[in-house]
Amino acid sequence: MNLIIVAGTASVANLVTTAAQLDGETLAVVVGSRAVAERIATSGVDKVIWFGEPGDRPLEAFAPAVAQAATAARPQVVLGGRRPAERVLLGAAAAALRAPALIDVKEVTSQAGTVMVTHGVNGGIAVTTREFSGPVALMVDGGGVAPVQGAAPIEETPAATLPMQVTAVQVTAVTEVDLAAAPRVVGAGRGLRAREDLSIIEALAAALEAELACTRPLAEGLDWLPRDRYLGVSGQHIAPRLYVAVGVSGQLQHLAGVRSAETIVAINSDPKAPVLAEADYALVGDLYELVPAITAALEQP
Ligand SMILES: Cc1cc2nc3c(=O)[nH]c(=O)nc-3n(C[C@H](O)[C@H](O)[C@H](O)COP(=O)(O)OP(=O)(O)OC[C@H]3O[C@@H](n4cnc5c(N)ncnc54)[C@H](O)[C@@H]3O)c2cc1C
Repeated sequence: MNLIIVAGTASVANLVTTAAQLDGETLAVVVGSRAVAERIATSGVDKVIWFGEPGDRPLEAFAPAVAQAATAARPQVVLGGRRPAERVLLGAAAAALRAPALIDVKEVTSQAGTVMVTHGVNGGIAVTTREFSGPVALMVDGGGVAPVQGAAPIEETPAATLPMQVTAVQVTAVTEVDLAAAPRVVGAGRGLRAREDLSIIEALAAALEAELACTRPLAEGLDWLPRDRYLGVSGQHIAPRLYVAVGVSGQLQHLAGVRSAETIVAINSDPKAPVLAEADYALVGDLYELVPAITAALEQP
């Protein structure tokens, strides 16, 4: 038996596919609406446990319920996504099972009660393969919504929840972005001097028909872009055809999320910036001169 954790969204196709490759049935534990539970039931899993409508309880409040379900199911592998609530619930399941939790998972296989996991270490500069004979919790990119397949039974179970309640919701105008699916991505870094200067990078992204992304400091700390836009070991991992890093130094933690790009172009004023060594095309110079010139050239009819 393997368990996948679903928190608020049915975009877990990678978890379903990963679980399907392992020995044993797949149980999906769903925290979220009935509609999400019903969609998961038709995604190729064998059974769904649903904890009822969350109402004003945050998804994280269901940590004890997920822990209980994991303890009862005794899964060999627990899979969860990278979004904040998914991480909390995966952690709760791992703690309940006393299972190690691994991130940056590249491959999982199982055979005769042993699970082999290949995952990135040291910020993604190396990969290691480990064997587990007990339960293991793995964080995997959720991916999109799985194609319709089968109709698993849904068991509604009363949930033990933490005493938490959402008392106010402030909606920020952000457009959801699926960076993992974008063929071209432009990443902005701290080489930008001011938030308004993001418009230079946005113009380049528009000219390239690319999605806009960034390094962690721009999303956490400066808050110039939403957190789902940052790339790296603790952010999104992408493998686009083209990644253009602008004013990005190329620290290990950032490169871990972009290294799988087919072609990397880096624009940096420091000839010693680590990103230049990783790039297929390196442009050394001031982004405030280079980027508008490249954008203008791309916009030529
Ligand atoms: C546990 C942990 C996890 C982390 N996870 C992540 C992660 O997932 N993703 C991530 O991105 N970071 C992560 N970080 C942070 C990471 O270590 C770096 O600090 C961060 O990536 C640096 O961001 P940056 O390249 O934008 O900024 P900087 O390192 O400050 O680089 C700015 C670059 O801009 C260049 N520059 C300056 N002016 C110009 C100009 N006018 N024209 C052209 N170039 C210019 C500079 O030469 C420099 O190379 C993590 C750190 C830790 C400790």
